[in-house]
Amino acid sequence: MSDFDTFKGIQKKMKAYQTVLSIASWDSNTEAPKDCFPYRSEMLSIISGEHFSLTTSKEYKQAINSLLAQSEDLNDNQKREVEKAKKGLDKIDKIPKGEYIEYNKMRTMAQRVWEDAKENDDFEAFKPYLEKIINYQKKMVAYRSDTDVPYNVLLDDFEEGMNMEKYDEFFDLIKEELVPFVQEILEAKEKENDDFISRNYPKETQKEFVEYLLDVFDYNLDRGGLKESVHPFTWNTHSKDVRLTVRYLENFVFSSIFAGIHELGHALYEQQIDEVFDMTNLGNGASMGIHESQSRFYENVIGRSKEFWNVHFTKLKSLFPEQLKDVNVEAFYRGINRVEESFIRVEADELTYPLHILIRYEIERSIFNEGTNVDELPDMWNQKMKQYLNIDVDKPSNGILQDVHWSGGMFGYFPTYALGSAYAAQIYYTIKEEIDFESLIEEDKIHKINEWLKEKIHCFGSSLKPEQILKIVTGEAFNPKYYIRYLKEKYSDLYL
Ligand code: ZN
Repeated sequence: MSDFDTFKGIQKKMKAYQTVLSIASWDSNTEAPKDCFPYRSEMLSIISGEHFSLTTSKEYKQAINSLLAQSEDLNDNQKREVEKAKKGLDKIDKIPKGEYIEYNKMRTMAQRVWEDAKENDDFEAFKPYLEKIINYQKKMVAYRSDTDVPYNVLLDDFEEGMNMEKYDEFFDLIKEELVPFVQEILEAKEKENDDFISRNYPKETQKEFVEYLLDVFDYNLDRGGLKESVHPFTWNTHSKDVRLTVRYLENFVFSSIFAGIHELGHALYEQQIDEVFDMTNLGNGASMGIHESQSRFYENVIGRSKEFWNVHFTKLKSLFPEQLKDVNVEAFYRGINRVEESFIRVEADELTYPLHILIRYEIERSIFNEGTNVDELPDMWNQKMKQYLNIDVDKPSNGILQDVHWSGGMFGYFPTYALGSAYAAQIYYTIKEEIDFESLIEEDKIHKINEWLKEKIHCFGSSLKPEQILKIVTGEAFNPKYYIRYLKEKYSDLYL
C-alpha cells in the first residue's frame, strides 16, 4: 500500500469516529433529555479515545512524514490534505501527553468556575484559573515554536496566515477611523420611535417566518434541517448534511431573524462545498475568518439591507399585523440598524461591534507579548471601554467576564470575528461590480448570489488558504479600507 493510501485509510476511520461524535453532539444540543449525559459522556469518551489514538498513531505519523518528504508526487489538493494533517498533528504531538491531559481537565474546571464567577460578578474567583490558562498557553506555544512573538502562533491557529503585523494594521485603522466615526454617529443619533422591536412576537409565528427565510435563501432542506437551541449554531458532517438552529425570544424577534440568517450564511457555505472534498479533511470552510465573512455577508450585507426588506417586509407584516401595524419599511430598516453604545459584544450592532473586538485584541496582545498580569486586566478592560465606546462598565459580567472564550483557552479567536466582517465588506465591493447585486436582492433572486459565492469561495472548501481565496474573489490581498468605507457609507446614509 502506498503512503497516501495508508494516510487516506486512517483518515477515513477518523472521519467515521468524528461523524458519530458529531451526530451525538447534535443530539446533545437539540433533543437529548437532561438526565442522559453521565452515561452518554462515558460512552462518547471511549469513541473520542479511539479517535485520539488514531490521530497519534505511529502509522499515521509515519505516513504523513514520508508524504511530506516526497510531496512533489502529490497533486495540490493532496499536498494540502497532508499539510493540514501535519499541522493538526503538531498541535498535539509536540506537547507532552501528561500536560495535555492536565490542561484539558483544568480547562473544563475553568469553564465551570467562569460560569459561577460571571453569575456572581466575582472576577477574583476566576482570576487564578485565568492565570493558569494563560501560563499553559504560553508553555504550549513554546513547545510548538521558538518564536519571540508567541501571540502570532495563536493568531495563526485561528486564521492561517494572519499575524500581529497584519492585525495591528487592521486594528489601528479601526482605532483611527472608526472610533471617532462611532462617536459622531452616537452624537447625531436622535431618539427613534422603535419600540416595535420589543413587542411580543409569538414563537410559532416566528418559526413560520424563519422557515420562509430558509426558502428565500434557497437553503437545501434535503441536505439539512432546522431546530431550536439555547445558542444558535450551524452543524455539519459533510456537504450533504448541514443543519442549523435558532432561538426564539418572544420579546426580541430580531434574534431569530438575524441570528437565523447568520447561521444560514454558515450553512449555505458548507452546503456549497464541492462534494469531491466530502471524504477529505478539506471539506469544511477555509478558515474562521472566511466562514464568518459569509455568515456576516448574509446577515448584514444582505439581511440588513433596504433592498431585502423592500421585498420581504410585507410577509413579516402579514405574519405580525398587530405588532407591526404602525411600522413602515423605512422605520423597520432603521430599527434593524440601530446603533447603540453597549457593554455586551454579542448584542452589539454592526457598527460598534469591531470596537468590542479591538478591546479584546489589544488585551490579548499585551498578555502574550508584554506579559501583562491578570490583576491588571479588569481595569484595562474598563479603561478601553471608556476610551473607545465612551461608557463606564458597572460590573464584571458586563465587562471582562462576559465571554466564554478565555475560560476555554481560546486566545487569538476574537480577532477573526472582526476580520470576517472586513472580508465581507471587501467581497461586497467586488460582487457589486460583477453582478447586479442590489437588484437581485430586490427581485428575490438570492440563489444567483449563492451561485456567485459558490463559484468564488464556497466550492473550494479549505483546499485554499484564506489569502488565496480573497485574491481569487477580489483580485487583491486583504485590505481593511473597504470595511471602513462600507461602514461609513452605510451609517452616514442612515444617521448623518
Ligand atoms: Zn458565526
